[in-house]
Amino acid sequence: MSKVYLTGAGPGDIELLTLKAFKVIKEADVIIYDRLANPEILEITKDGCEFVYVGKEDGRHIMPQDDINEVIYQNSLKHKIVVRLKGGDPFVFGRGGEEAIYLEKRGIEFDIIPGITSAISVPAYAGIPVTHRGISVSFRVVTGHESPNKKISQIPWNNFKTDDTIIFLMGLHNLAHISKKLIEIGKSCDYPIAVISKGTTPQQKVVVGTLENIVERTKDTPTPALIVVGKVVELREQLKWFEN
Ligand code: SAH
Repeated sequence: MSKVYLTGAGPGDIELLTLKAFKVIKEADVIIYDRLANPEILEITKDGCEFVYVGKEDGRHIMPQDDINEVIYQNSLKHKIVVRLKGGDPFVFGRGGEEAIYLEKRGIEFDIIPGITSAISVPAYAGIPVTHRGISVSFRVVTGHESPNKKISQIPWNNFKTDDTIIFLMGLHNLAHISKKLIEIGKSCDYPIAVISKGTTPQQKVVVGTLENIVERTKDTPTPALIVVGKVVELREQLKWFEN
């Protein structure tokens, strides 16, 4: 009987891989993977392990999701231990749910191995706690990928009026739109925002600014990158441990 492990690879720093993920990657007969923040993970595998790349570049899918689902399924018919490796956590904007449903419908066994999501760990490596007593009592992880031309936005912009933390994933190309929307709902032009790229890796780059100047400051920022909005960004001054 074969089994598919929908596995989180963590945000980049290889030591942020869970022990459970490490174990299945070592035993895998095939690894089906995306563009990974840390390709060194693939070196953990045993001799003879096969590799199938189904990644995306800058948000553009090289392979449509339906085809990826089918690739995973076909591999489960050929191999005993199939690891579907995804950046961060498989259920945080990872489409892991869709892949699991596809397998469930076909009677294929699967496990979900959660990963450390970039949404929390990347701010942590930049010295930004997503909650902080007296500053932010909650955080939201929001897609930054929604088209600005969409007639009715699914994003609840009007709920973002408090100082609670907002983390946008996949949002760098929409940064101008995101800043504009946040100013429209009443945030001040000098409200704190940070953009963190290649977080948790030696190439990590953090740009801090305001809703007004962040686009200008992040012109050459490489991906993957995420956006943190909130007063917690100011704590970085004291807490930026990783770069120090
Ligand atoms: N499942 C992943 C998220 C997939 S969406 C997770 O839980 O982390 C991909 C987005 O994640 C990117 O567009 C970027 O916003 C963010 N991201 C992933 N790795 C990152 C990293 N090392 N540094 C900064 N952002 C990252």
